[in-house]
Amino acid sequence: MKVTDHIKNAKGKTLFSLEIIPPKKGENISKIFDHLDPLMEFKPPFIDVTYHREEYIYKKHPNGLLEKKTTRKRPGTVGICAAIRHRYDVDPVPHIICGGFSKEETENALIDLDFLGIDNVLVLRGDAIKSEGKFIPQEDGNNYAIDLLHQVNRMNNGQYLDDSLEDPAPTDFCIGVAGYPEKHFESPNLEMDLMYLKQKVEAGAEYIVTQMFFDNQKYFDFVEMCRKMDINIPIIPGLKPISTKSQSTILPSIFHIDLPVELGEALHKCKNNQEAKEIGIEWGIKQSKELMEYGVPVLHYYSMGKSTSVQKIAEAVF
Ligand code: FAD
Repeated sequence: MKVTDHIKNAKGKTLFSLEIIPPKKGENISKIFDHLDPLMEFKPPFIDVTYHREEYIYKKHPNGLLEKKTTRKRPGTVGICAAIRHRYDVDPVPHIICGGFSKEETENALIDLDFLGIDNVLVLRGDAIKSEGKFIPQEDGNNYAIDLLHQVNRMNNGQYLDDSLEDPAPTDFCIGVAGYPEKHFESPNLEMDLMYLKQKVEAGAEYIVTQMFFDNQKYFDFVEMCRKMDINIPIIPGLKPISTKSQSTILPSIFHIDLPVELGEALHKCKNNQEAKEIGIEWGIKQSKELMEYGVPVLHYYSMGKSTSVQKIAEAVF
């Protein structure tokens, strides 16, 4: 079922959902099941699975020379989606990214997802390779999320890259996109970022999932600005329970978001990660309750392979 239909069927009740990352290459699917099993009691109607592009690694030879190698450390998104569908009968939402993939590779992944009966995709640009300063599109790939969105739309209209197909079957993906209450870090300002978000909505995006934020007011302001710009689709808040002391500096540097003073100070005072985790749970409960009261369609947790914090928050909120 489509994410938008789950939201409609909930008739205003806030749903619980989460996002997981594929395990590192060489690890087992049981890692995913161990993570998800305790969270299934909260009945997520859909679960997002992230997509990861290639990275460069440097192998040192005995003569001191470095050899540059390309590797994908976390493949398996499509397979994990199939496994989630099979084991839990929940709708998986694979993320699809521009970076590192040609249009043909993307089309083939979408064909696999369609054959598996997967109804939703979250369409993203992806980030730069860590050692490259800026995002460089793949040759024959998509530049921006909106270009990828157009590709999915074309397939939804039965248009494949190979235009010699006789009577091609249209796909029927429900398309989600990303939004940034604190602005995407490359954008000169929030207004221009929202202008591009509106373009994605006008091109057919049916719902938005936000980057993590720790100050609900940022989300409320973002929703208000979106509505003023006539962006009227569901805006799903993404929440990350903090689980270590060092995340107080790591999360702002990776995700370009701020932590409220109260939260930052509390984390700096923590003696260990256990204390930080408890603060993260408390903060997550407070944020979730307020967002639920505001009437958000879904509370979407970035669980990143750690189920206990999400479980404790969900127990207190749902
Ligand atoms: P876009 O919408 O393409 O925007 C990128 C930047 O370009 C923005 O600054 C925007 O303002 C600007 N822009 C947009 N369109 C245009 C245009 N036509 N002309 C000029 N400028 C434009 N990354 C992964 O690699 N894998 C994942 O699974 C993943 N999941 C994510 C899930 C969520 C909910 C979020 C919020 C992010 C996720 N990311 C993931 C990270 C994401 O790929 C990065 O934030 C990326 O830098 C931007 O992606 P986007 O889809 O927002 O890009």
